[in-house]
Amino acid sequence: MKNLLAILIVLFAAQTGFGQQSEMSIAFKNNDYQKVLELCNINLQSDSTDINAILGKGRAYTGLNEFKLAIPYLLKVKDGATANWQTSWALIDLMSAYFSIGEVEKAKDCYNEALKIKGTSNSTSSLKKLGLLFGFDSYFNKWETVEKGNIIFHFQKTSSISSLDNCMKEREIAYSNINDFFSSEMPKKIDFFVWKSNSEAEKILGTSLGFSRPQNCISHNRLNQTTGHEITHCISFWRDKDNVRTRLINEGMGVYFDQTNSNRMVKAKEVASDIKIDIKDMWVNEREYPEQVYYPVAGAWVEVLILYDKVKFLKLSKNQTYENALIIYGDELNTMIEEFNNKVNSLK
Ligand SMILES: [Zn+2]
Repeated sequence: MKNLLAILIVLFAAQTGFGQQSEMSIAFKNNDYQKVLELCNINLQSDSTDINAILGKGRAYTGLNEFKLAIPYLLKVKDGATANWQTSWALIDLMSAYFSIGEVEKAKDCYNEALKIKGTSNSTSSLKKLGLLFGFDSYFNKWETVEKGNIIFHFQKTSSISSLDNCMKEREIAYSNINDFFSSEMPKKIDFFVWKSNSEAEKILGTSLGFSRPQNCISHNRLNQTTGHEITHCISFWRDKDNVRTRLINEGMGVYFDQTNSNRMVKAKEVASDIKIDIKDMWVNEREYPEQVYYPVAGAWVEVLILYDKVKFLKLSKNQTYENALIIYGDELNTMIEEFNNKVNSLK
């Protein structure tokens, strides 16, 4: 009987442990970092040295873009890990956290250390991916870096870097114009990678240009992109790091602040000539439209919202959902949408 009880206790404990691990991995999978923190705190209450819980907290704070909070936890794991996979993840997130607050040399040290450790297949592919995005991978050894006031430019080696003076000047001006609007407190300068060819980037990065990773203030670009689009993604993100983004408002801002000063409504009408546009549907079913239709219309819509009321728009830029727009604009929102839809569909 005693034996049976002991077995039951062991089984129960194992199950609880397993249950919580699994809850933790589900929370991580869903990017529910608050839940991860909650679960780790429970574990740390019973054992303050629980290395997995310390790692979980460090990783959750990194996921929440709370890089300065993450670092002490990750350092603890780096020094006290009992398994390689823990060290590997701690170094990867440390690299990410240091990089994101502008401590590039420390980030590079973590990257080089992580390369020497055999982690899991997930941590290995994450390290490879971040190494490429941050420009740490040896592929970038031949690139040239030029640091300016607000942007660190990375160029594929070219015969004359001076021919890029204008490119840098224009983007520094774009940065100032855009942040005049958002007044974001940036955690670091933007790392701005300029690729010679899209197909080369596709081959190396596995994705086409241009794109940004605003939480780390990184943009990978083609030289012929508009000067402001990607910079807007980085700057608008940091108006509130806990932002909720939607494709309509996020890409609309990218287009509106692209610095081309083109007539947004004319462009939107052009693309709307053979597809019926409904802003509300585009807002909530954001993946159902091709980029060439979606972006110009989103840009024109953001222009309407900004000209209507800048303060309200800045509020919307933090939580960009249709539901939040209803709270900010009230009944006026649906009238504005109807007017916009009529206007944009008028060429049919
Ligand atoms: Zn974009």
